[in-house]
Amino acid sequence: MNLLQEIKRRRTFGIISHPDAGKTTLTEKLLLFGGAIQEAGAVKSNKIKKGATSDFMEIERQRGISVATSVLAFNYKDKKINILDTPGHKDFAEDTFRTLTAVDSVIVVIDVAKGVEEQTEKLVEVCRMRKIPMIVFINKLDREGKDAFDLLDEVEQKLGLRVVPLSFPIGMGYDFKGIYNIWGKKLNLFSPDSKQKVSAGIEFTDIDDPALEDVIGKEAAERLREELELVREVYPDFDKEAYLKGDLQPVFFGSALNNFGVKELLDCFIEIAPTPQPKMSDKRLVDSKEKNFTGFVFKIHANMDPKHRDRLAFVKIVSGVFKRNTNYLHVKLGKKLKFSSPNAFFAEKKEIVEESFPGDIVGLHDTGNFKIGDTLTEGEILEFKGVPSFSPEHFRYVNNADPMKSKQLSKGLDQLMDEGVAQLFTLDLNGRKVIGTVGALQFEVIQYRLEHEYGAKCSYENVNIHKACWVDPEDEYNEEFKEFKRVKQRYLAKDKKGQLVFLADSAFTVQMTQQKYPTVKLHFVSEYK
Ligand code: GDP
Repeated sequence: MNLLQEIKRRRTFGIISHPDAGKTTLTEKLLLFGGAIQEAGAVKSNKIKKGATSDFMEIERQRGISVATSVLAFNYKDKKINILDTPGHKDFAEDTFRTLTAVDSVIVVIDVAKGVEEQTEKLVEVCRMRKIPMIVFINKLDREGKDAFDLLDEVEQKLGLRVVPLSFPIGMGYDFKGIYNIWGKKLNLFSPDSKQKVSAGIEFTDIDDPALEDVIGKEAAERLREELELVREVYPDFDKEAYLKGDLQPVFFGSALNNFGVKELLDCFIEIAPTPQPKMSDKRLVDSKEKNFTGFVFKIHANMDPKHRDRLAFVKIVSGVFKRNTNYLHVKLGKKLKFSSPNAFFAEKKEIVEESFPGDIVGLHDTGNFKIGDTLTEGEILEFKGVPSFSPEHFRYVNNADPMKSKQLSKGLDQLMDEGVAQLFTLDLNGRKVIGTVGALQFEVIQYRLEHEYGAKCSYENVNIHKACWVDPEDEYNEEFKEFKRVKQRYLAKDKKGQLVFLADSAFTVQMTQQKYPTVKLHFVSEYK
């Protein structure tokens, strides 16, 4: 097997969007092109349904779906494409942030009528900071929506992107005639009944060709010419290097539901999207082409069956070839492990594989060795950076509600924290435990899973905490740090890794503390070094 060839043909990406913009629908259409699924409806939406009968049932349903759709892989032309699932619900944003550490690029889906929404803003900000290459897909053109130029402005302003349209809509909603594919110099006519069929597209290398009028009518042809002229004047030329550096974002228009404009998006994507990228470790930059295997865990999923304790750790392969039944070093534990049944993912199925390549994800059965962020190598001591925890938004004391089951409770909490469901802080002063989560929903998830998977019961108690700030003293022995520790004693805690955390009760406190103790640096992500 040729490693270089395998790397060259891989594209690993995530689709991000605000819920309802069309992520699931687009994923499904992409899979159709790969022939990976036969019909629509095969990709399950992992949305939390509002007003579901029981939140617990909904959470369980969601968990089932999230393991099934964690990785969807398919072949298209000569490429192997891995789509990593990113939950859209804001309570699961942390999951999405972590998944973004394992993608090489993203596609951002925006609803033409709603424009840029809150979750899109947050997720794009993370991608922008990480310089992840992004392609924007403006969806639902079969509906009335915002004017294309206005929307492009909104994307630039609200998301801080520099866009270049590679396709352009002709009309919209009731009047939607199709799109002009600037990238492929083709006209695609829309007919609402073309669902799931691939329309061939009419080639128009010269947009001034009078034949255009015969196809879409004089008025629409004139308008399209004017608009394309404006596109040329206003937007920069597409530059692949700038896109790959995260400095320029191509935009496509279409309708996922009607499978319209999706093939154009995919054809461009496989041409321009990055192959598996090098990744920074604490020691050095690791290139995907290196022959020794390295990889890291970005997601852990507990078994759905409470009788089986094992979990699935999702490992992104950074370099080399991952082989079944081969010893690899778990760097943090300093222990060699081998895996007899690594799972690879294809469409919505998982199967055991002998070999996997950079860009691929393998699911490893685990009985408690893995935490998010752990690195596997062939022996080299290095750890990958970049699976950060953000400060939680909600905090509660967690109490043991069944004194006979305290062991089960601490084991359950431990494992759920490894999975990244929430973060646990232990107060220095009295050893009390505080759980911090991104969304309120997680408290229910934890309580429910502790009971059903570990036989433990917990109760919560309110605690007045606004933010977790990781403390980075410039000098541990200086007087300022000592005073900070003395004055803030009640609010100091350790996170799971033993790092010092200041649990501030308000934004004002954070600000005052920063002013009063300037040499004590406060960070809002756990991985600040
Ligand atoms: P997600 O939450 O981002 O995964 O969104 P879904 O893919 O579940 O889509 C949300 C809703 O929008 C569903 O009812 C889809 O049928 C609908 N939808 C998706 N794409 C289109 C489209 O191109 N046109 C129209 N009219 N509806 C769409």
